[in-house]
Amino acid sequence: MVAGAAPYGKRGGAALAVKGARIAWIGGAAEAAAKAAANQVPVEDCRGLWMTPGLIDCHTHLVFGGNRVEEYEKRLCGVSYEEIARAGGGIRSTVEATRAAAADSLLASATLRATRLMSEGVTTIEVKSGYGLELAAERRMLEVARELSRRLPVSVRTTYLGLHALPLEHQASRAVFVEQASGAWLETLANAGLVDAVDAFCENIAFTLAETEQLLRAAQDLGLRAHVHAGQLTDMGAAELAAKYAALSADHLEYLSAGGAAALAASGTVAVLLPGAYFMLRQSNPPPVPLLRQAGAAMAVATDCNPGTSPCTSLLLALNMACTLFGLTPEEALAGATRHAARALGLEAELGTLEVGKRADFALYQIERPAELCYNLGANPCVGVVHAGEMRPGASYMPARCAPGSP
Ligand SMILES: [Zn+2]
Repeated sequence: MVAGAAPYGKRGGAALAVKGARIAWIGGAAEAAAKAAANQVPVEDCRGLWMTPGLIDCHTHLVFGGNRVEEYEKRLCGVSYEEIARAGGGIRSTVEATRAAAADSLLASATLRATRLMSEGVTTIEVKSGYGLELAAERRMLEVARELSRRLPVSVRTTYLGLHALPLEHQASRAVFVEQASGAWLETLANAGLVDAVDAFCENIAFTLAETEQLLRAAQDLGLRAHVHAGQLTDMGAAELAAKYAALSADHLEYLSAGGAAALAASGTVAVLLPGAYFMLRQSNPPPVPLLRQAGAAMAVATDCNPGTSPCTSLLLALNMACTLFGLTPEEALAGATRHAARALGLEAELGTLEVGKRADFALYQIERPAELCYNLGANPCVGVVHAGEMRPGASYMPARCAPGSP
């Protein structure tokens, strides 16, 4: 699939040439074969496969300590949220486990999750901090996220989620926490080159509009763009605030007014839909997709991979849920994991479509039509991945006819 007017940007019988890490040429297969023979360039014959831009998971909390499986099991055995929270469960248990975890152990568990995403054709992952809630642990999370991209053939964008939850030690000193998180900590982490963007959980159980704005203003002063967790449980006007600061994205949006949708469209802020959390929380009011469509807002889809509300390491499953639960068309969902996801990370000039000059990130699928990427539940039709012009090692990805060096 290449950028263009046809549905899905579909193009049949096409070929693509890679030079270094970039897409150097796109054209017809016959012309490609002739050029390749004349220039003695190796060719991979991927006949019968579909090629898409590398998928982009633009909202994850991939780095964390421990997990919440016991909590999940308890809830299903009848223990209430309140009892679990009183026993130290919920987000606090993840904060505790993340603070206690060494970088090596965070890296090991995050690598496993990233690898699962990558096996489906994901080539770029956004990773948020936010389970440290103190400088040292936030820094460790962001360093681990950076390390992932050095160790694995995948690109990582880091987001400092400074305002995720109020830590236990600050229950009585809320303003001090917000001041530190938006001030000295942000500055230190940004100066260390660990922050690509910031984020805040703006919600009645988390942070207010004014507190969120404090972080967004501080980020703006440092020249950083923002994401905002907005409208997951209530409409507090967080989408409008995100738009006011020209945020890269506003995420969740189950509760969003027509005015909020229009504001997102006007500011070019991408609406990131996270059906995994919606599903796990058994919510019943999907984001107002018709309003977003009508307003002309770009919609992306992500896993929201996190231990509490979306332990999901399948972007293809998130695409299915975005279609089945939220009513996106498969074409909208796929755009949401490619071109609009790239925009949600501010990377639209570099990624998200197959175009000459963009980075050579793409995935190959054994499917009959693109909607199959949304249709299957729990199947992985990905048979090959190229990241920055390099074919990912792992023979299982590639069928015999696509093996490197074959004619
Ligand atoms: Zn999230």
